[in-house]
Amino acid sequence: MTIELSERVRALKPSATLAVTARATELRAAGRDVISLSAGEPDFDTPAHVKEAAKKAIDEGKTKYTVVDGIPELKQAIIGKFKRDNGLSYQPDQIMVSCGGKHSLHNVFHAVLNPGDEAIIPSPYWVSYPDMVQLTGARPVIVDTGIENGFRMSAEQLERAITPRTKLVMLNSPSNPTGVCYTRADFQALGEVLARHPSILIATDDIYELISWGDEPFCNIVMACPDLYDRTVVVNGMAKGYAMTGWRIGYTAGPVELTRAMRKLQGQTTSNPTTISQWASVAALNGDHQCVRDMVKVFKERHDYVVERLNRGNGVRCLAAQGAFYAFPDVRGAIESINGIDNDIQLAEHLIEKAGVAMVPGTAFGAPGYLRMSYATSMENLEKALDRLEGALAGS
Ligand code: GLU
Repeated sequence: MTIELSERVRALKPSATLAVTARATELRAAGRDVISLSAGEPDFDTPAHVKEAAKKAIDEGKTKYTVVDGIPELKQAIIGKFKRDNGLSYQPDQIMVSCGGKHSLHNVFHAVLNPGDEAIIPSPYWVSYPDMVQLTGARPVIVDTGIENGFRMSAEQLERAITPRTKLVMLNSPSNPTGVCYTRADFQALGEVLARHPSILIATDDIYELISWGDEPFCNIVMACPDLYDRTVVVNGMAKGYAMTGWRIGYTAGPVELTRAMRKLQGQTTSNPTTISQWASVAALNGDHQCVRDMVKVFKERHDYVVERLNRGNGVRCLAAQGAFYAFPDVRGAIESINGIDNDIQLAEHLIEKAGVAMVPGTAFGAPGYLRMSYATSMENLEKALDRLEGALAGS
């Protein structure tokens, strides 16, 4: 029997980040020498005190369902984090804990978007935003930022993209895939535009907050524009900053009404996120952050190395970033100079085949002509990968 799949699922593209990572794993399992620079996850182990807290939770029998939106202890830890790191005040009924940042975003989109609504997404964007928006029946409106604008959406671009159907604006800083951060002044300029459109909701994906090293301390739109507090939902999680990708804990802070709607949605879908992971997250948020600072120092060293070496490559241009663990080189020059290669998808394929280096094509992030390189891997791997890339591009 042929199963007739839903139109929603048929319209959905597979996640390119996950697909390239899986392909590299498969090739390696088949004995090929492939260095994977595709995975968006820290290569560090989860900090010891976090793992201990999880073990303790198991031993104490904290292995049953919890309330749908997160244990009170975790909500308090999240509230404490927002106060300490962001100067933002929230009450428990504004906090919602979900099964990863991805799940939190899904909940936000499903709680507010209707078919026919528009959601503005600056590109390069993280692969899943447009598909997640499309699943709700709403339309992603892509604003192309480009390397020339430092990959940041300007106030003018935002203004031009807004229509009477705009329901939501998606922001992400530090950005996946570019690593670029908006400045406080950038956010204030966007905030001035949004002040003229009071019905638009703002979602800010701060998942890379802890991994940043710019001249300015971390800032998001609601920190820069406190007037937007009532219509901004902050999305964050444990995965990147605490090397806890597999633990699947994300959270949101935002308007009570929206949080209540997401709680209803989650109550009818996944129920609570994993109990043990919630207890581990309490330890991570309330514990010593030296482990995070140590990781960030290493990411920054790798960033400097990778950006410098990429810029030496034939037909490659790469901006310095202020956070995350991705480089997003413009490879249009390389594409032009290699015979038989017409786009970034073919170039990524060529590099995996000829150089044994796996990266995600920029097209997946709404930016054809670029590649995303994750440097969440050892310096040794990076050196080897960059030697191979330099060779592959020079020999073209
Ligand atoms: N967010 C990470 C990435 O961009 C993890 C994979 C995913 O969920 O997309 O690679």
